[in-house]
Amino acid sequence: MSILVLAEHHDGQLAAGTAHVVGAALAIGGDIDILVAGDDVAGVAEAAARLDGVSCVRVADAPAYAHQLAEPLAELLAQLADDYSHVLAAASTEGKNVLPRVAALKDVSQISEILSVESADTFKRPIYAGNAIATVQSSDAFKVITVRTTAFDPVADGGGATIEALDIVVSSELSRFIGEELAQNERPELGGARVVISGGRGMGNGDNFKLLDGIADKLGAAIGASRAAVDAGFVPNDMQVGQTGKIVAPDLYIAVGISGAIQHLAGMKDSKVIVAINKDDEAPIFQVADYGLVGDLFEILPELEQKL
Ligand SMILES: Cc1cc2nc3c(=O)[nH]c(=O)nc-3n(C[C@H](O)[C@H](O)[C@H](O)COP(=O)(O)OP(=O)(O)OC[C@H]3O[C@@H](n4cnc5c(N)ncnc54)[C@H](O)[C@@H]3O)c2cc1C
Repeated sequence: MSILVLAEHHDGQLAAGTAHVVGAALAIGGDIDILVAGDDVAGVAEAAARLDGVSCVRVADAPAYAHQLAEPLAELLAQLADDYSHVLAAASTEGKNVLPRVAALKDVSQISEILSVESADTFKRPIYAGNAIATVQSSDAFKVITVRTTAFDPVADGGGATIEALDIVVSSELSRFIGEELAQNERPELGGARVVISGGRGMGNGDNFKLLDGIADKLGAAIGASRAAVDAGFVPNDMQVGQTGKIVAPDLYIAVGISGAIQHLAGMKDSKVIVAINKDDEAPIFQVADYGLVGDLFEILPELEQKL
């Protein structure tokens, strides 16, 4: 059995999620290789080679892979598929963009967002917005899998994989890069933050989200939001936590003015400790909260910040 993990990287840095995907690959067992594709990615390849448990880092370094467009990446992975029994990527925006294309090119079923590995062909994954967990067994010879990174521990640094340059250059006419607008944020990245504080419709407006800033600063937290807060225009949609937003599982999740709809819970209920602040003592968020504070957030937040 041999597994190929698609490395994710941004601005020349290996994304933290890749170490979690290697963790999932270790649970499957067998030889683990990593594919690093991009333009000028020697530094990323070196970081990937340091991950424990990896045998070989295969590097496709060419302008054709700049910006990691899904079409050439999928074509490249499909060309490498014969060497592998499994290909894995994070269930991130990028992984969800690339891997279904690989599955289509290889005419196999994709297995999405696995939470655990039961055996090399059997996996657990959420269905119905996380309200049920399905155990799926695949009979495909080549398995295409995205991994919920929060469900697997990352492997540590300490490995010494070999690095191999690939000379396959795939050119795809299907898409081309036009430009990008990147949100600038000094806070930790929502998906990987140890502490997350999220605001909901109860925040009232975007200005009131500033009430979360001081607490987030003190706790080193990322700031998230419910979809109602995003839809109302309080905050940008990259802050959305939930079924159609980001999935987070921090050590501490603080939900402020969020009712606890199942679609929101789908994105945060695996957090280790959940704190809810809500003026309605019957809000469903209290059913999943470890600590609940019933009261007006406009009084509680300044007091909490001061006490912190
Ligand atoms: C297909 C689909 C996908 C969805 N995906 C997502 C998703 O990814 N993420 C997501 O979050 N939602 C998602 N939703 C929406 C979800 O169903 C809820 O509508 C949404 O989560 C509600 O957001 P909220 O809790 O902020 O707002 P509300 O449900 O309106 O709750 C606001 C809460 O604030 C409290 N409150 C008000 N004022 C105060 C105050 N002064 N002090 C303290 N508490 C106060 C209220 O008591 C209330 O509990 C999805 C829905 C659908 C149909």
